[in-house]
Amino acid sequence: MVRQAELHYLATRDSLTGLYNRAEFINLAKGELARALRHGFDTAIVVIDLDHFKVVNDTLGHPAGDRVLRAVGTVLGRELRASDVVGRLGGEEFIVLLPQTPPALARSVAEKLRVCVADATLDAETPSLRVTASFGVASARADAGPVDFEALYQRADAALYRAKAEGRNRVCEANDPVAAT
Ligand code: GH3
Ligand code: MG
Ligand code: MG
Repeated sequence: MVRQAELHYLATRDSLTGLYNRAEFINLAKGELARALRHGFDTAIVVIDLDHFKVVNDTLGHPAGDRVLRAVGTVLGRELRASDVVGRLGGEEFIVLLPQTPPALARSVAEKLRVCVADATLDAETPSLRVTASFGVASARADAGPVDFEALYQRADAALYRAKAEGRNRVCEANDPVAAT
C-alpha cells in the first residue's frame, strides 16, 4: 500500500520541485473545469516563466539554477490557497490553477505572486540574487459554457508572450474571445 502511494507520488510530481508535473496538472485542471461548469464557478489559470533564467545558469551554474527553481516553487506554494493547484510545466515554467476565482481576483493573485517572486531570496548561497518572472492569466467564466483546457492554456500563453514582449516582470491577461460591449 505504501509502495502504491509512493509510485503515485513519483508519477504525478516533478522531481526537482515536488510540484505537480505537467501531465498531472492537466488532469487536475480538466477535472476542475468540469466541476466549475457544473457548479457555475469561474476558474483561472496563470502561466509563469522566469525572466532571463538562462543568465542565472550561465553565471552561477546549473546547481544554483536548480536551487532557484525549487525556491520559486516554494514561494508559489506558500502564497496560494490550499485549494489552488501549482505545477511545473518544465524548464523554468510554472502554472497555477485558481478554482472558484473571478478574473479580477485572478489578476490580483498573479500580481501578488509576481511581487513575492521578485522580492524573494531564492538562493541562500547567493543572497543578493533576485529573479523576476512574467505572468499570463486566462479565465474560464462560469457563463461562457464549456472551456477546453488546451484553449484556456493557449490564451494564457499568448498573454505571457505579451508580458515578455512588453518588458517582463509583469502580469498580462488574455483578451476575452468575446469583445466587451
Ligand atoms: P526569457 O526571459 O525570454 O524567458 O529568457 P530565459 O533565459 O528565461 O529563456 P530561455 O528559454 O532562453 O532559457 C531558459 C533556460 O532555463 C535555459 C535552461 O538552461 C534553463 N533551464 C531549463 N530547465 C532547467 C532545469 O531543470 N534546471 C536549471 N538549472 N535550468 C533549467
Ligand atoms: Mg521558458
Ligand atoms: Mg524564461
